[in-house]
Amino acid sequence: MNLDKPIQYVKGVGPRRANILKKIGIETVNDALEYYPKDYDNRSNIMKIDELKIDEKQTFKACIAGNAREYKVRRLTITKIPVKDGTGAVELIWYNQPYIKNNFKLGEEYIINGKVSYKYGQICIENPIMEKSELINVNTGRIVPIYKLTDGLSQKVLRNIIFNVINENIDNIEEIFDETFLRKYNLINIKDAIRNIHFPKTEDLLKKSKYRLIFQEFFLLQLGLNLIKNKYKSFRDGIKFNPIDLTEFLRSLHFKLTNAQERVLDEILNDMYSGKIMNRLLQGDVGSGKTIIAAIAMYVAVMNKYQASIMAPTEILAKQHFATLYELYKKFNIKIELLTGSISTKRRNEILEKIKNGDIDIVVGTHSIIEDNVKFKNLGLCITDEQHRFGVHQRAMFKEKGKQTDVLVMTATPIPRTLALMLYGDLDISIIDELPPGRKKIETYVISSSLRERAYKFVINEIKKGRQAYIVCPLIEESEVINAKSAEIVYNEIYKGIFKDYKVGLIHGGMTQNDKNRIMYDFVDGQIDILVSTTVIEVGVNVPNATVMVIENAERFGLAQLHQLRGRVGRSTYQSYCILIAYSYSDITKKRLKVMTETNDGFKIAEKDLEIRGPGEFFGVKQHGLPELKIANIFEDIDILKKAQKSVEEIINNDFTLNAHSSIKNELLKQFKDKLDGIILN
Ligand code: ADP
Ligand code: MG
Repeated sequence: MNLDKPIQYVKGVGPRRANILKKIGIETVNDALEYYPKDYDNRSNIMKIDELKIDEKQTFKACIAGNAREYKVRRLTITKIPVKDGTGAVELIWYNQPYIKNNFKLGEEYIINGKVSYKYGQICIENPIMEKSELINVNTGRIVPIYKLTDGLSQKVLRNIIFNVINENIDNIEEIFDETFLRKYNLINIKDAIRNIHFPKTEDLLKKSKYRLIFQEFFLLQLGLNLIKNKYKSFRDGIKFNPIDLTEFLRSLHFKLTNAQERVLDEILNDMYSGKIMNRLLQGDVGSGKTIIAAIAMYVAVMNKYQASIMAPTEILAKQHFATLYELYKKFNIKIELLTGSISTKRRNEILEKIKNGDIDIVVGTHSIIEDNVKFKNLGLCITDEQHRFGVHQRAMFKEKGKQTDVLVMTATPIPRTLALMLYGDLDISIIDELPPGRKKIETYVISSSLRERAYKFVINEIKKGRQAYIVCPLIEESEVINAKSAEIVYNEIYKGIFKDYKVGLIHGGMTQNDKNRIMYDFVDGQIDILVSTTVIEVGVNVPNATVMVIENAERFGLAQLHQLRGRVGRSTYQSYCILIAYSYSDITKKRLKVMTETNDGFKIAEKDLEIRGPGEFFGVKQHGLPELKIANIFEDIDILKKAQKSVEEIINNDFTLNAHSSIKNELLKQFKDKLDGIILN
């Protein structure tokens, strides 16, 4: 029933702790139930004192055997209390916690856990974890959960809270699978699973609980995705485009396609010339030349008297595509138009009218393209650039703008096969695994902030050679009191300072679209030498004359993001440079940033990032607008993923509306919220 109850009202919580719990994402009872342990400590093996081994963490049961003794050594207060179990004695030791002695009474029995050592001529445990043995054991004497914590929250407190949450609410947790299903897929029931994922009775039950919960997560995610996909899946035949002679178009380019580009182009054209609907994912590292492939595919569609459209995640990128494509197409009498959010209503209405009449062949735009009032006359091909920035739903809506529209989605983010399968399901995949010739490796350096001045001097040298530079700063929330440089601060510091003889521009998310565009165009035109910016320039922007990328507070960026940013330079035959300035230097930062100096290969970088940070953060499904995976791991749990997929297919085949599976349906609607609107509600 009501698992949405605020956590504050659970025994042992209250308003103050509720605030702390909020920091780790626990606001309701349900959040707490799904706050799965990151690890476990098996403290179930209760030893006798004479079996204890020195230097190992162990658990034993013993009684308080004497009064507390206190020693002062310089400023240190040492408290010692002896315990006994009939086989021997152990001294419990605390430092600077004089009040601790008041907690214990002679003769009381405790379960005690800690690292056993030999000090001051005695067997002892420093800072032991203790619980009265007559109480139910939460923190020791069992397999104990270890949770991710935050400031002001200890394992012990959190464990007790979650223990109470479970006891108070276990009866309200609803089973979504029926008996037959549970038996068929070897799943334990949800109540046992929740209880034992937090407080496992045995290792075996822990395993079964994990299995059950992982299965359920995959099951719901895939069921939802399948419903979304099926809704938009077309069982009709696709457009059979007539083959187009590309000689003239290709001759108009100032370069020759790379082998990899030719290969993926073949794959795409094969789809288009066949009668089937194209559903293709084009992956290629930053700078590998995806745009021209999109341009050729759209050319083919237009030569076949169809409309084509390309959607980009930001206005800057859309404008840039528009400019590039405009140049490419102008000799071929192709009518191309830009549709973004910042266009005036009057102009917008004109454009919409022309799109509807077929007076426009190619529409380049942002999310604006998928708005309701945009109607195409005959959209034959839709292309999404930087697909990872869009949700599944948006891709599907775009396709719906036409009838049997061919779909091409492009991304520079390498996606592991399993995730690609889940997110894109029926997509075929093409990969550009080669950069255009003549590209030099972008020389990358990691420096500490004390060398910042030198980095800036380096920038000046490049500008003297006629090149341009980016200085990228992290996004900083106003409330943050940290040692980080915001774009505004850096800009104000340098345009009158070290770069006073040069033209410096500033661009950030808070500016109006018009201002952003103006600055960006000035940079493209070479009116600006140094562009200070936030990550608004992250995706796709192409200014080949820019050769230096300086990134302030590089430690605050993800590797994939750094790679995207670095990809803004090295877009010509000039040698390019990337300078990562780190303001704090933990081991993990060092390790991560070092990866950037070692390789320019986006796939390798993604792999490393994954290794260092774990897949949860890297491929947070959240960015796709989908429910997050809290326990399942798309790499480690592939076998369970497959089984869940199979069970999903079975359910969909027999009960597409889920009317015979109302608990599953309810849970699905809760997790996917509006994403399933109109799909399974009716
Ligand atoms: P991305 O794959 O990151 O979207 P772009 O399509 O923006 O890359 O291409 C990056 C740059 O490489 C552009 O300036 C483009 O004109 C150029 N380019 C693309 N293909 C080739 C090629 N075969 N030879 C030389 N330059 C190319
Ligand atoms: Mg691109």
